[in-house]
Amino acid sequence: MGIASNPFPLYVGSGNSLDLGLGPTPRISSLLIKPASAVCNLDCAYCFYLDRDADPYKALPARAMTLDTLERLVDTYLFYSYPSGVFAFQGGEPTLAGLPFFEKLVEFQKRYGRDGQTVSNALQTNAILLDQHWCDLFRSYQWLLGVSLDGPEEVNDRYRFNKQGRGTWKRVVQSVELLQRNQVEFNILCVLSQANVDRPKELYRFYRSLGIDNLQFIPLAEFDQDGNPLPFTISPEQYGRFLCEVFDLWWPDRRKVRIRFFDNIAEALAGQKPGTCTMHETCDSYVVVEYNGDVYPCDFFVEQSWKLGNIVVDSWPEIARRTRRYSFASKKTLAHPECQACEYQSICHGGCPKLRHAAHARFEDLDYFCQAYKMIYARSTAPLRADLAKMQRGAGFHPAAGL
Ligand code: SF4
Ligand code: SF4
Repeated sequence: MGIASNPFPLYVGSGNSLDLGLGPTPRISSLLIKPASAVCNLDCAYCFYLDRDADPYKALPARAMTLDTLERLVDTYLFYSYPSGVFAFQGGEPTLAGLPFFEKLVEFQKRYGRDGQTVSNALQTNAILLDQHWCDLFRSYQWLLGVSLDGPEEVNDRYRFNKQGRGTWKRVVQSVELLQRNQVEFNILCVLSQANVDRPKELYRFYRSLGIDNLQFIPLAEFDQDGNPLPFTISPEQYGRFLCEVFDLWWPDRRKVRIRFFDNIAEALAGQKPGTCTMHETCDSYVVVEYNGDVYPCDFFVEQSWKLGNIVVDSWPEIARRTRRYSFASKKTLAHPECQACEYQSICHGGCPKLRHAAHARFEDLDYFCQAYKMIYARSTAPLRADLAKMQRGAGFHPAAGL
């Protein structure tokens, strides 16, 4: 068995299309595991994850995956997913499970992995707890990290602070430098809020000045009960403008800097399955495993009504075939009339059901960021297509290595 990294595998595609008949079951091709559930050591102003009303575990103070649950998870999933198993850890803050938990994980992966099996590990973190011991583990087993950092100090610290209300920037940048010194592979996850969305040039230059060459931007979209955007939420037009300006800045750097959305557009144009679920035809690429083994179809729908089972009592093939999983997967196929007539439908597939559902709890609505997608597709598809054609004519084309 080899333990290796791969491009951030949170939402790696299954390669199978949905079959609502008696055809093959869409495989669960990666896991998003929450060893500390939604619990976090920070108190970011824009985070609505910890206190969600729909969180089934909200009332439970201590939420940590036991080693028994971890062992069962690794044993059963490696058997099911042979020849490759993809484990991604997220929270809340997954490092709260502690380093010994992750050392045990690797031990179980070695014990239960079979000859010829490849195992990938990734972890999304706020980087507050990272030290040399964590880096030793990450580097030894080629983990891929995602580190949350929203830009320069005054931008990041506007919303990202600790339980005492103090900014986190200095500590996170220390961790970034530690990861760089240890040659741990990582990308930066930047949440786009009202603090930074109108500053694309400044943001891009900041990350480049830190030597960051792998970035992803997550647009913030939270709404009140009447469907009105909350103050941190960005507008579709702001997001579209940001993406187009960053695209122009990135274009001369495109052989050395990866920006996830642009990579994903290129993958779609090249006829590959993009590495993000939002650009897949259906929502069945991965599942979420909560601290107690409960399984859900998507990180944004960890709710009782979408629970698919529990790894302690259900087998992976049983979970994969649950009617609820088919039902959730098909939400993405409820095409809005605008999507049906859209020239980008074959790339976008109607966006993300979470962003359709967020404002008015209707899956059949248009994705909140539709206008932004149209802006960036209009700006990027022609040059990316031309570049792909040039590369295919040239020395060989490997989108996974970046364009
Ligand atoms: S709802 Fe959105 S985030 Fe969830 S699986 Fe579907 S596309 Fe992905
Ligand atoms: S860009 Fe908008 S209209 Fe077009 S497929 Fe995506 S969400 Fe639908």
